[in-house]
Amino acid sequence: MSDQGVERVRCLIIGSGPAGYTAAIYASRANLKPVLYTGKEPGGQLTITNEVENYPGYPNGIMGPEMMEDFKKQAERFGTDIRYELIEKVDFTGPVHKAWSETGHLVEADTVIIATGASARWLGLESEQKLMNRGVSACAVCDGFFFRGQEVAVVGAGDTAAEEATYLSKLCKKVHLLVRRDEMRASKIMQERVMKTENIEVHWNTVTEEILGTENVEGVRVSNVKTGEKKVLPVTGFFVAIGHTPNTSIFEGWIDMDENKYLKTIPGRSLTNIPGVFASGDAQDHIYRQAVTAAGTGCMAALDAERYLSELGII
Ligand code: NDP
Repeated sequence: MSDQGVERVRCLIIGSGPAGYTAAIYASRANLKPVLYTGKEPGGQLTITNEVENYPGYPNGIMGPEMMEDFKKQAERFGTDIRYELIEKVDFTGPVHKAWSETGHLVEADTVIIATGASARWLGLESEQKLMNRGVSACAVCDGFFFRGQEVAVVGAGDTAAEEATYLSKLCKKVHLLVRRDEMRASKIMQERVMKTENIEVHWNTVTEEILGTENVEGVRVSNVKTGEKKVLPVTGFFVAIGHTPNTSIFEGWIDMDENKYLKTIPGRSLTNIPGVFASGDAQDHIYRQAVTAAGTGCMAALDAERYLSELGII
C-alpha cells in the first residue's frame, strides 16, 4: 500500500548488518531516536554464514543469524525504530536529507548513516546454491578454520582470491586455485606469494562446471577451456572469491565513490562529501570486510552524527 506521508527524524540508518545495528545502539543511547531501515536482507551477510568464531565476546562461537538477532535486540532495547523495508531513493540536496522507502514513505533526516554493506558475487551454479554453507563459502577468514588439514579450492584471480588462497594454504593440506584465464589480475606481489607457496596449485584456463556432493562438498568438476580436459578435484571446501559488489547504487550522483563504487570517507572518519551523511561498514570498506570492523565503523558513524547534530545545535 502506498503511503506518501512525510516524517522528520534526527538520524536515519540505512542497513542492518553489524555496522547498521552498532550505529543504532550508539545513536539511540545518545538520544538521537534513530529510525533504521533493514533493507531486503535483515541482518546482512552474516545471516548467510554459519558459525562466527572470530567475533570477540562469543568464546564458544555463535551462529551468524543468532548474532544478528542479538545485535537487533540490543538496538531495540534502547529504542531504535526498526522497519523491515528497503530505502529505494535518496535526495541529499540538503541540508535536510530525504529518503524514500519502497512503499513511497518519505523520511526527512538531519543525519543519515549509510550501512548498506556489500554482497559477494557468486558463480551462479545450481550446485553452488545447494551447497552454500555446506562447504561453499565466500569468506576464507570466516570459514577456513573448518577445513583444517583438508583439500580446498578457491575460484578467482584477483587480490581477494590470492589472499584467500594464501590464508587457506596455512590451514589446509592443499589449495587449488581456479583461474579462468591464463593470467591473474592480482597484484604482482600477491601473485608471487601464491606461486611461491608449495601447497597451492594454480589451474590456469579453468572453469568450474559443478560442485559435487549431496549434504556437503565432496569434490569439484572443472574443465580446461583451452584443451577441453575435465577433471574432478577431491576438495571438501569451495571458496568463491570473484569480488564483491557494494550496495551503493542509490547513492550514485550524491556520495563520492571509488572506481569500484565503494563510498569514500575521510580517512579515519565516517564523513562523506555530504555534510550530515556518514558511511560505515562494507559499503565503504573493501579491505577488511569483517563483522567487527563493520561494527567499529558503525560506532564511529553514530558518534560523528551526534557531533554534527550538536555542532548545529539540533541536540
Ligand atoms: P576483482 O574484481 O579484482 O577480481 C575478481 C576476479 O574474479 C577476477 O580475476 C576475475 O577474473 C574473477 N572472476 C570474476 N567472475 C568470475 C567467474 N564467473 N569465474 C571465475 N572467475 C571469475 O575482485 P577482488 O575481490 O579480488 O578485489 C576487489 C578490489 O579489492 C581490488 O581493487 C583489489 O585490489 C582490492 N583488494 C586488495 C587487497 C589487498 O591489497 N590486500 C585484498 C583484497 C582485495 P578475470 O581476471 O578473468 O576478470
